[in-house]
Amino acid sequence: TRADIRPFPAPPPVPAATEGTPYSWARIRELVLSHRRELILANLIAVLGTLASVPIPLLMPLLVDEVLLGKPGAAVAFMDRLFPAAWHGPLLYIGAVLALTLVLRVAALGLGVWQMRQFAVMAKDITYRIRRDLLGRLQRVSMAEYEILGSGTVASHFVTDVEAIDQFLGTGLSKFLVAVLTLTGTAAILLWMHWQLALFILFLNPLVIYLTTLMGRRVKQLKKRENSAFELFQECLTETLDAIQQVRAANRERYYLGLVDRRARAIRDRAAAYTWKSEAATRLSFVVFLFGFDVFRALSMLMVLFSGLSVGEMMAVFGYLWFMMGPVQEVLGIQYAHSAASGALGRINRLFDLHEEPHYPHLRDPFSGKLTTAVRLENVSFAYGDGPPVLDGVTLAIAPGEKVALVGASGGGKTTLVQVLLGLYTPTAGRVCFDGVPVTEIGLEVVRENVATVLQHPAIFNDTVRMNLTLGREASDAALWRALEVAQLRALVERLPAGLDTQVGRQGVRLSGGQRQRLAVARMVLTDPKVVILDEATSALDTETETRLHAALREYLAGRTTLIIAHRLSAVRQADRVYVFDAGHIIEEGHHDELIRADGLYARLYGKVQE
Ligand code: ADP
Ligand code: MG
Repeated sequence: TRADIRPFPAPPPVPAATEGTPYSWARIRELVLSHRRELILANLIAVLGTLASVPIPLLMPLLVDEVLLGKPGAAVAFMDRLFPAAWHGPLLYIGAVLALTLVLRVAALGLGVWQMRQFAVMAKDITYRIRRDLLGRLQRVSMAEYEILGSGTVASHFVTDVEAIDQFLGTGLSKFLVAVLTLTGTAAILLWMHWQLALFILFLNPLVIYLTTLMGRRVKQLKKRENSAFELFQECLTETLDAIQQVRAANRERYYLGLVDRRARAIRDRAAAYTWKSEAATRLSFVVFLFGFDVFRALSMLMVLFSGLSVGEMMAVFGYLWFMMGPVQEVLGIQYAHSAASGALGRINRLFDLHEEPHYPHLRDPFSGKLTTAVRLENVSFAYGDGPPVLDGVTLAIAPGEKVALVGASGGGKTTLVQVLLGLYTPTAGRVCFDGVPVTEIGLEVVRENVATVLQHPAIFNDTVRMNLTLGREASDAALWRALEVAQLRALVERLPAGLDTQVGRQGVRLSGGQRQRLAVARMVLTDPKVVILDEATSALDTETETRLHAALREYLAGRTTLIIAHRLSAVRQADRVYVFDAGHIIEEGHHDELIRADGLYARLYGKVQE
């Protein structure tokens, strides 16, 4: 009925899978330039803002020279023309200058905020695009290589590293732009007012900037060390937190938290060096700057005494000195922001350095229009990295609709075989075929759409039962309940307070191991697969539930090609055929009774069990 089709939340936008082009400054520049409009506007606003703020100290000579010291000049003449002579008085001048200052300051403030906003919008959009690119990249990276990085590290690229780039592009560049404009404007006014003093300042600033750059290089090295310590800490912390309950149960909290503590200590040792040395570098360059000011002030007084600089002009020049302090610091600050962003870019690229999962074209579809599909592994070999071969020339064939069991000692490579079958790992030799078509001609996505696996430790999301079943696909309530019924979970979910919409907790903590496995079985049922792989999928169930589940599954699996990896004889016995797997090879093959008669490894594993 229509009633049982619940409205489904709109599917999330899927970031496009990203090519392996690494992130570089050239790429960032490209992204920045894609915001040309905001940038041009921001520059215009910044120029206007500078025009509003830079003249403020120029009002000083008007007040000091013309009003206080009584040397009539342009301002007094202007006011004379504007107002009747009777109104004149120092109060009017001071008030007018104050009002003008206020207007300029408010204008500068408004323009400054507007300018910041342009940059913030640009930076947030670029950082979003980087995150989206990273998500796109995740869709393509080879799982084998991703594993080496670890999820904690990858998460830190998404969070901390992208944040560093955001800092540089947003606040960093925005302040830099204003600083450069202010310095230019100030330099122009100073040159106009008194070129000798101006030249002194123009010489002082580059000196400070050069000194700071020199020290910045050392500091950058320290920052790198701090970052790597932080990364290790995060990785270790995440792992320990994930296992905290088991760690406590084993009474090993002190040891594992000690491991985290050791990493935390490494941060302490390295970060302290970075913090004080970078601070020292900043302050040292600042002191050079300040002392330059002191010299400058002395020079200005000499100029008043000997070269006709007025007191008001001298005060205006001092005003400009203060004016320049902030901008000079910001010009310096951009270097730190830049080197932090550079480091972050380098780390982000680790994700782009990973090899991609092979992309196979979709040339033929052995699944469509059929009820079942044959599965064949031909001489498949595989090893993790440089390790020993885990699969060593495995050949295995399952006829359409056949039920095959795979047994063998744990650690033998059965799960690895499943992962290779799904193309999560690429075999080093041999090939995987469905109905005689190699995976390389089917495409991995199509394979995964038609082959469903239930694993021993299924991933459960911090979401509702419904979402854990559908994984975001659309499904009617009726279909969900049917799947739950096959999985022997219907009664349980019916008793839950919100039924299908009950939250299962982070990583399914509110479910038992067996419930999680049955949830995964229901998830499999829902996808209506052509090929089913159960990898110790019912290992956490009690015998009674397992028997019931297998009975229900038997009906569901009838006609579907099935590979069952299991230890219990009851599960193995229902298979049409059994493969015995040992040390990377298939060593025996046949029906249960045949294998018992053959008196090999299988007979040793299962022969004595009385059913
Ligand atoms: P089974 O499922 O038969 O118990 P697995 O396929 O899980 O065995 O593991 C087979 C072998 O491969 C084991 O020796 C295991 O240590 C190794 N192995 C499993 N996963 C990885 C991995 N991600 N990286 C490196 N070695 C692995
Ligand atoms: Mg396994």
